[in-house]
Amino acid sequence: MQHYTGALDRLIDQLGRLPGIGRKTAQRLAFHIINLSEAEVMALSDSIAQAKLNIKYCSVCCNISESEKCSICMDEKRSDEIICVVADPRDVAAMERAKDFKGKYHVLHGVISPMDGVTPDMIKIRELLHRVADGNVKEIIMATNPTIEGEATAMYVAKLIKPMGVKVSRIAHGLPVGADIEYADEVTISKALEGRREL
Ligand SMILES: [Zn+2]
Repeated sequence: MQHYTGALDRLIDQLGRLPGIGRKTAQRLAFHIINLSEAEVMALSDSIAQAKLNIKYCSVCCNISESEKCSICMDEKRSDEIICVVADPRDVAAMERAKDFKGKYHVLHGVISPMDGVTPDMIKIRELLHRVADGNVKEIIMATNPTIEGEATAMYVAKLIKPMGVKVSRIAHGLPVGADIEYADEVTISKALEGRREL
């Protein structure tokens, strides 16, 4: 394997840490970058820094947002009575593509996974409980992926919320077991929401 020295090697090393980028791709990207104009490189590095500095979590739903509250939480046409709980901001984007859901979301930023050392206090369950306790929520839809961890997380949350007098439902398995909501098509997501069952 070819090694470069100094700045180029550091760039290849940084790019190689990105998900899905192997050493070969990192080298290709690094050479692409050093062949760009100075202005283009500055625009690229600035967009990375700005994304990191400006994007934070919505204070209500924990989705990514550039303001204190995200656009979905601010939308008065959407119901506060129904909250769809997902593991990842990318799942919100996928659910929104289906255009059927008119409630609000809650993003857990992960699922409970003892194997990976993820305990319930490490994801945004506490924030969800506060929302349910404070608001006029009537139903929680658990839309975590149909994996072992996704199911376990749905059951765990249901157990905490049901005693608060709120209905908890689980999206139907139009989604195949082990599937990723992020990559599901709109029809599958619509069917999964429609066929949800109470937990
Ligand atoms: Zn929000």
